[in-house]
Parts: sequence; structure tokens; C-alpha cells
Amino acid sequence: MSTDTIGILGAIPQEVNGIINQLIDSKVHTIGNRTYYEGKLGQQRVVVVYSRIGKVAAAATVATLLLEFRVSKIAFIGVAGGIHPDVKVGDVVIATNLVQYDMDASPLRPKFEIPLLGKTYFDTDEQWSKNTEKQVQSILAIDNLHKVVNKEDLAPFSIEQPRVHMGTIASGDQFFSTNEQKENLQKQLPEVLCVEMEGAAVAQVCFEFGVPFIVIRTISDNANQEASFSFQSFVEKISLVYGREIINKMFA
Ligand code: SAH
Repeated sequence: MSTDTIGILGAIPQEVNGIINQLIDSKVHTIGNRTYYEGKLGQQRVVVVYSRIGKVAAAATVATLLLEFRVSKIAFIGVAGGIHPDVKVGDVVIATNLVQYDMDASPLRPKFEIPLLGKTYFDTDEQWSKNTEKQVQSILAIDNLHKVVNKEDLAPFSIEQPRVHMGTIASGDQFFSTNEQKENLQKQLPEVLCVEMEGAAVAQVCFEFGVPFIVIRTISDNANQEASFSFQSFVEKISLVYGREIINKMFA
């Protein structure tokens, strides 16, 4: 396969099925308990996969995309819980950098630093992220959004004029469903916009292989008591559409 193949991954089927359905000339490969869909989106060669949930699953999937499929760039697309007060359900967060909030080898190393790598924050590709910000802004313009998602599906989440944010995403192997978890993270890492369970693992592997990457997260819940209900209904009705529209715009 040519070196300009892009790897696209999500954690769960609802994050990538909308993209897989659009693939042209698709071929299916099963490796290490994952299903990889190789094909084209317009002129762009891509491999699309869902990793399942958590940092280990995401890291193994990225390594396979890099070593077996020789992808030259990685885009992660999925949902996340909002942490910063400005970030609302239906907004999109594009990571400028990512941190593993559950890494703690203190007092040997500063909290959150990856031991023997000496790094805490992993930067995404700046230009690719900025281009994506513009593309997502146009998808979220309310008249455009109403063309692809029913108003009735947006109403229960009070999504009126969703926004795009650029900033720090925190990842770890926990689903946030209490205010206590949320406040604890806000106290320790006040710059964090949203929380999820894979992005910073993807970031670490891409950094180690020297491969550019981006992480795009739609906010499905507020990382508090209502998170599990909000998450479930958001991924059933909305996340698939956001994922499909964002990726289509990227390769239009
Ligand atoms: N319902 C699933 C579990 C979902 S875990 C099951 O039954 O197995 C939540 C997924 O969405 C993860 O992939 C994570 O990256 C993201 N996510 C969304 N909201 C989150 C939150 N509040 N806390 C942590 N991760 C969240």
C-alpha cells in the first residue's frame, strides 16, 4: 500500500460505522481481534477501525495500523465527556495536546509524566488540527447541522449552537460519571477541556513512531451523574453522523 494511507480510528462502532459505510473498494482484514476496513474516501486511501475502549486497546490498534498497514498519519474520531465549563454537549474538541491523567510514578517522576520517556503532553499536528477546526466549524453552523441531524434528536441534549474548541484532552482508563471525578481532574489539570479513554495512548504511540496525528472528540456527556444516560443516547443517535460528516469534509 502507498505511504499516503491515513489510519482513522474510533473506540466503538458508533464512532466509525458512518465512515465505513462510505468506503469505496473496501477490503476487510482481521488482525489481533480487530476488524480493519481498507478502502478509499474520494481519492484518499484510508484504513478504518474501531479499537474498543481504553488505552491498551487503542495503543495496540495504532501499532497495527502503523506496522501492518503502513499508514503515514492517524486521525482519532470519537466522543468524550466535557470537563471545562465552556464545553457543552454537542460541541467538538480538537486536541492541541493530550495527557494521561492516570499515569503516576511519583515520587520517582513528576505526576502524569511517562517514565523513561520524560514527556507529559503529546502535541497533535498543528496545521492538520487547524484545517480540521475550520471544517468542523462549517459542519456545526446550525443550518448545516440541521441538514444532517434531526432537530428532534438534538433537542434532548439542548444542542442549539454547538462550538469547536481547541485545547488539551485528558485520557485514562475510567468512565467519568461523578462530580467528584470531574472536580478532581479540574483541580489537578485545570486546562483540560474534555476526558476520554484512548486519545493520549494514540498520541504516545504516534509520537514514538514519529507519525503526525489528530484527535477529534464530540462531547456526548458532561462527565457527571447523568453521563451514562447522555452517552448512550448520544452515541445511538448523533455520534455516527458527526463522525461521517467530519471525515467526509476532510477528504471532500
Ligand atoms: N457503553 C460502553 C462503555 C463506554 S466507555 C460499554 O458498555 O462498554 C465511553 C467511551 O466514550 C470511551 O471510548 C471514551 O473514550 C468515551 N467517553 C465518553 N464520555 C466519557 C466520559 N464521561 N468519561 C470517559 N470516557 C468517555
